[in-house]
Amino acid sequence: MSGPEQSQITFGVLNETSHDESRVALTPDIVTRLARQGITCLMESCAGVRAGFRDEDYQRAGAAVTDRNTVLSKSQVLGFVNRPDTSLLSRIQNKTWIIGMLGSFSDQDYIKALDEAGLTGIAMERLPRQLSSAQSMDEMTSQNSVMGYKAALVAADAYGSFFPMMTTAAGTIRPAKVLVLGAGIAGLQAIGTAKRLGAVVTAYDVRPASRQEVESLGAKFLDLGLDFSKGQGEGGYARQLNSQEQAQQQAAVDAKAAGFDVVITTAKVPGGKPPRLLSAKGVANLHPGAVVVDCAASDLGGNVEGSQVGTTTTHEGVIMIGAPYLASGVATTASSLLARNVADVLVHFVRNGALSIKADDGIDQALVVTGTAESGARGSTDAASSEKKGHQQ
Ligand code: NAD
Repeated sequence: MSGPEQSQITFGVLNETSHDESRVALTPDIVTRLARQGITCLMESCAGVRAGFRDEDYQRAGAAVTDRNTVLSKSQVLGFVNRPDTSLLSRIQNKTWIIGMLGSFSDQDYIKALDEAGLTGIAMERLPRQLSSAQSMDEMTSQNSVMGYKAALVAADAYGSFFPMMTTAAGTIRPAKVLVLGAGIAGLQAIGTAKRLGAVVTAYDVRPASRQEVESLGAKFLDLGLDFSKGQGEGGYARQLNSQEQAQQQAAVDAKAAGFDVVITTAKVPGGKPPRLLSAKGVANLHPGAVVVDCAASDLGGNVEGSQVGTTTTHEGVIMIGAPYLASGVATTASSLLARNVADVLVHFVRNGALSIKADDGIDQALVVTGTAESGARGSTDAASSEKKGHQQ
């Protein structure tokens, strides 16, 4: 990074538009941190309230708190938890930079809309997480950790018995048996939290390396009796299983899940549809009162057949919670982590006091999904537009 000297950059944050969202993309401590880099912060009034940060906290840290239109007209760069919807996009000034989870792997129409609006899109989901220089920008890791923690709490809350073993005058209550499917960032947090609550935890992941991580947390690794010794693909992530492997895996999970009281699923494949791990038949095998929390629930489908985003349903007594937004339920901490991630991405693009894109920088190449060489007044780029098109594939 060349440094922020004489930076004239204004970073704006709006109220998130989704009713389910309590997080905010900027916290007061980060306002101070950005000020040291010469970046001025503009907050829409009340944007931090649901995360526990008042307007006066931002003002005390040095941000200006104002109305939505002023943030939109004066900010060169806007930070989001959830991407702005297309009606908001139409209100954002040409050449503004947008930093957030933009859904660029699954929604090319949206990226096209960003491009047509003349906006520079910085897609946090594309971060090359394996680069050590990118680790403080890793929103997926920070938010998935929070989500995994909360998933265990949500499951414990919905479950009609204790997680820990409990000896009472009226008898001994056995501990809950929890199965965690997908033992990445979120899954490992769910395992740790469920164990701290006293449950007996078993976990499974398609990456062979995960066995050791699961066992190091004191959980048992579930052996499906299938050989996925090549379950790990590019960059250390899971690979998408072929349809035959998926069918075998699902049948095995359906059978093995039957003895558990709680199933928490967190399995994802970067840029791909979440794998279906538990079918409706597997859910029907669970006992009434069992709880399923599907953290991978999405409009494309989740890890569990029938799970619905943001909805709790009951299937023959089995409580099924479609819960991809759980990080929002720990809004203060989740926002603090996320704000640091977003700010570090922003600062990464500040060179010689201006926003710019470097064609030969690995983080720039990965994150920039739209943006033109003519972004002059609000930033500049030496990236060729052909590269930009490459990101949109
Ligand atoms: P993720 O959110 O993409 O996936 C969650 C988990 O689901 C992963 O562990 C994955 O293996 C698992 N999964 C996918 N398909 C599955 C299937 N069919 N059956 C069972 N499990 C399945 O990934 P994540 O949690 O963000 O991270 C995954 C791995 O990447 C972890 O090992 C993590 O340590 C590593 N990672 C490394 C870095 C880094 O190098 N800086 C950063 C972040 C994550």
